Amino acid sequence: MQDFSRRSVLAGMVAAPLVAASAERSSAQTAGPRWTPQQTQAALKDAKGTKLVLLGTAAGPVPGRSREMTSHVMLSNGAAYVVDCGMGVTNQYARTGIPFDALKSIFITHHHADHNIEYGPLLIVGWIQGVKNGVSAFGPPQLKQMTDDLMRAYKQTVDFWAEDFHMTPLTSVKVQEISAAGPVTQDDNVKVSAILVEHPPVKPALAYRFDFKDRSIAFSGDTAPLDAVAKMAKGADVLVHEIMYVPAVEQYIKGQIAKGRPVKFEAFMAHMKADHTPSEDVGRIAQEAGVKTLVLSHLTPAIDSITDDTWREPVAKYFKGEIIVGKDLMVV
Ligand SMILES: [Zn+2]
Ligand SMILES: [Zn+2]
Repeated sequence: MQDFSRRSVLAGMVAAPLVAASAERSSAQTAGPRWTPQQTQAALKDAKGTKLVLLGTAAGPVPGRSREMTSHVMLSNGAAYVVDCGMGVTNQYARTGIPFDALKSIFITHHHADHNIEYGPLLIVGWIQGVKNGVSAFGPPQLKQMTDDLMRAYKQTVDFWAEDFHMTPLTSVKVQEISAAGPVTQDDNVKVSAILVEHPPVKPALAYRFDFKDRSIAFSGDTAPLDAVAKMAKGADVLVHEIMYVPAVEQYIKGQIAKGRPVKFEAFMAHMKADHTPSEDVGRIAQEAGVKTLVLSHLTPAIDSITDDTWREPVAKYFKGEIIVGKDLMVV
């Protein structure tokens, strides 16, 4: 199992060969990996009630792709709630037009770089742009230590700016670590709960559910197929679920093996399936949960040659509700 590294696997995904296309059937409306900031801002301007913006929809810590690493923001009653901080979260947040002083809480699903690497920059650059002391952060241990260490590392930087522009330094990020299933937090807008998911060797890895007054939105985080996710998302309006398109992953690894990489095909696929959810299972879980809308995100592999229809078809065999193939900056 250890004869390959996760790093080289994920890096290799970028160069994966083109997957058989069925592009002629994808609609113009959903083509392409991202919305423009103008589209996003227009959709938020006209929005009534709670909205979800997919900031980054790609799996894995791979820079330079047309999709950013995983992050989301929900906007409800003027307050913003970020879920995950993959690289790109700060720029993408800015592109939504949501003011930084609206940022109320940050939730991290698990400590993989594609979910947490820009947590610190979001706080520091966000503070310069208006994030307030008292912003909250939730996530698995050691989020507290991580936050303290980041604040220490950037103290001088923050202090220079604070002195220069007569700003109150960013000193108080309220961190709450989560290592068990149950209620997480509650405010005037939302009740948040979490469950533990299967993403070895990462422990704990979390899925979250947000019950706003007008809408409920659940996030699978990174996980192998799990009944507990269906249970958590039961009756939700929106389920954002990670998805792995197995044929493209198989094609990629077969290509690597043909080039002489010392990897066993079965062992590699077993590893991927122990950590991530194949398309068909995403459909089954969403159907079991009975959600209205399923958003496919954290796309594995995040390569543009896989069409929306290719992502959608195996899911639609099992899920009869609305299926949205996630795009960066898309408003749901
Ligand atoms: Zn991930
Ligand atoms: Zn992960």
